[in-house]
Amino acid sequence: MSTPRDPIEFAGSTIEPRRRVAELAPGLLTELAAGCPTTADPVQTLTHSRDWWPLAMHWAIDGRTWSIPGAVCTPRTTQEVTHVVGVCARHRVPITPMAGRSSVTGAAAPAAGGVALDMTSMNRLVEVDETSGVVCVEPGMFGPEFEEVLQRKHGLTVGHFPQSFDISTVGGWVASRGAGQFSTRYGKIEDIVVGLEVVLADARTVQFGPHAAASQGPELMQLFIGSEGTLGVITKVWLRAHPLPETRRMAGYSFDSLGAGIAAMRDVVRHGATPAVLRLYDDIESARSHGATDSRCTLLVLDEGTPEIVDATFAVIERFVMHHDGRTESPSLVERWLEHRNDVSALAALTQKGFVVDTMEVTSSWSQANAVVEAVKRAARAVDGVRNASVHLSHSYLDGACLYFTFAAKADDPENTYVAMWDAVQHSALDHGASLSHHHGVGMSRARFMERALGETMHVLRAIKRTLDPQGIFNPGKLALDEQFWP
Ligand SMILES: Cc1cc2nc3c(=O)[nH]c(=O)nc-3n(C[C@H](O)[C@H](O)[C@H](O)COP(=O)(O)OP(=O)(O)OC[C@H]3O[C@@H](n4cnc5c(N)ncnc54)[C@H](O)[C@@H]3O)c2cc1C
Repeated sequence: MSTPRDPIEFAGSTIEPRRRVAELAPGLLTELAAGCPTTADPVQTLTHSRDWWPLAMHWAIDGRTWSIPGAVCTPRTTQEVTHVVGVCARHRVPITPMAGRSSVTGAAAPAAGGVALDMTSMNRLVEVDETSGVVCVEPGMFGPEFEEVLQRKHGLTVGHFPQSFDISTVGGWVASRGAGQFSTRYGKIEDIVVGLEVVLADARTVQFGPHAAASQGPELMQLFIGSEGTLGVITKVWLRAHPLPETRRMAGYSFDSLGAGIAAMRDVVRHGATPAVLRLYDDIESARSHGATDSRCTLLVLDEGTPEIVDATFAVIERFVMHHDGRTESPSLVERWLEHRNDVSALAALTQKGFVVDTMEVTSSWSQANAVVEAVKRAARAVDGVRNASVHLSHSYLDGACLYFTFAAKADDPENTYVAMWDAVQHSALDHGASLSHHHGVGMSRARFMERALGETMHVLRAIKRTLDPQGIFNPGKLALDEQFWP
């Protein structure tokens, strides 16, 4: 049975919050507990104070956390969620939905204290329509349990496999607008979700869909996909599912420049091939992770599904890889990646050694991709202490791709270096027309860039927030919708 995993141990026996918040009155705890399992146990509240935000890992080894919630409520039903939301709304208490707590942006950390709403007990597969391939699931179900029962009992897969698959939940995928590693075939989560049940701030339960497609005004369901717990609590999710793939095929290639690899990827996707995995690594990551020599850039390809479609996909891939002077490498490169792709143990070890490590994933058009790569790497290397800046392309679309950067710095003052590094790379990406994020989201970490990234449309988002959550009880401090707590 999967459970949330702590990213790193707290150091010391007394953990100090950086932001002290008012304790919850005993009467309020009793009121919460009357309709939902609730605890104010200090171990539980501390555990629910953080997620996998790399900066919070530095705070943890310094014996600190951001702030500590006053209670943890663990609903088992939608009715228990409405009870907690109703109590919090009456008393204007902040409420932060959370599940795997694997967010890397502080999105799941209760920045203003209040109630941590732990959704991991709502973890049942509700129903499966095998004929249509539509699955209804509660939001707190973790990736491994979800896919296991779907594959074994129903011969279906949703095909959403983020690197954090083992430590994240369906509701977290939806609320973060996430992407799986096989998304070029199966889609990003917003392409997979066809229906949602949501508890709003006035404790009303609403249902969107499920529909294969609809024209009945704007698609309101999409508002909640990526809302990071700021607009409501997701209590049920309907997802598209596919028959299990009949075949799987893999191939490795290399290029003498990243630009040549990007051109090949672009041509493959623009000519209609959508292999599940299409990942291109720069020379630094190719040497570090794939044993490449001669500064070559590695392209990993995997596709699965119906044999005729997979064969046709590989014919398109071969044609454009060769057109851009790619060289065939061993498919064992892909096998090794498959084996090790979810191993993240290095992060805690590097943090313990004083390295500031983080990743930035942004979307760029194909026409700007090379410029974004160059500019972001240059900006990162100009920051004091930065030792490494590398990139790979992880997800592809007809019109662009996700550029996934990794940075590492050695610093005496991790927090200042972290802020300087992010200021440099995020502004540089935005300068070149990239999106703020592709799948990690915003949380606390990127809230300060929202105004610039969204421009005038930030006004639309704030208007929606004011209407749906006028008291601002849902996940304060996220998406730049209210007080900006950090930095
Ligand atoms: C090592 C590592 C690798 C990662 N790789 C990927 C990747 O490949 N692709 C990817 O997309 N992400 C990745 N992530 C980021 C993270 O795992 C995802 O954002 C994931 O979807 C979060 O799911 P969770 O259950 O852990 O949610 P949490 O971290 O608990 O919450 C995330 C956000 O969702 C909100 N939320 C959670 N449940 C609900 C609910 N029921 N209703 C309303 N709001 C809710 C929270 O308030 C918060 O804002 C990675 C993280 C780590 C640590």
